[in-house]
Amino acid sequence: MIIFGEINCLGFCLETSSIAHLVALFFVISIALLAASFIIKRPKQRLQTFVSAQVAVLLAIAATFYTMKCSEMLSFYLYLAYVGITGILIFGVVRFYDRLMIKRLDAKPAGNIMEWVQKFVNQLASATVYYYDSAAPRAFAAGRSIFVSIGLLEVLDDDELKAVLAHEAWHIRNNSRTPYLKQLAIMTFSSHKSSEIEELADSFAASIAGREALSSARNKVDKVFI
Ligand SMILES: [Zn+2]
Repeated sequence: MIIFGEINCLGFCLETSSIAHLVALFFVISIALLAASFIIKRPKQRLQTFVSAQVAVLLAIAATFYTMKCSEMLSFYLYLAYVGITGILIFGVVRFYDRLMIKRLDAKPAGNIMEWVQKFVNQLASATVYYYDSAAPRAFAAGRSIFVSIGLLEVLDDDELKAVLAHEAWHIRNNSRTPYLKQLAIMTFSSHKSSEIEELADSFAASIAGREALSSARNKVDKVFI
């Protein structure tokens, strides 16, 4: 294959290049940042690390491109591979985000402790409700899962909880219709501005649980359910 010739060529170029160590450094940094972006728990820092990794990869590619005096094709293949891998990562993150969160949050099915919660959601969407150990009252939907924190279960009464669950169920039902980047943004930022999507989810929640329950839930958790 041509690419092996390119790699040989790159090896030769790097041996004679004065910036070989720089190319290697950029690649090491970008791999380290990418790995870190999977380990970091805070959504905002995770996204920042991921973006930094992208920049480091771009620098690595630019440095490689500069080094390839004999041929420029390897940079092209590297770039293609990079775009492909990034695409798969981003696609995978959206698709398997709930599996990831179940593991990360050590979430358990909410039906185990509050049977009605799962039954209520079953009427609205095909989704599993999970709870996780956190004092901060939070709820969010991802994939086919709804996550609620113990703090949320403690602070809300049944009607308010229904409003929150209906809101999240609406998200599950409409996930496929939510623009891809918006989904990613909602997932990666812990808080976000009220949007058209949130208003639609809220009006669905109000139609199920009542406007009053929704607004008192909103007041109690102050926009931490998305
Ligand atoms: Zn929402």
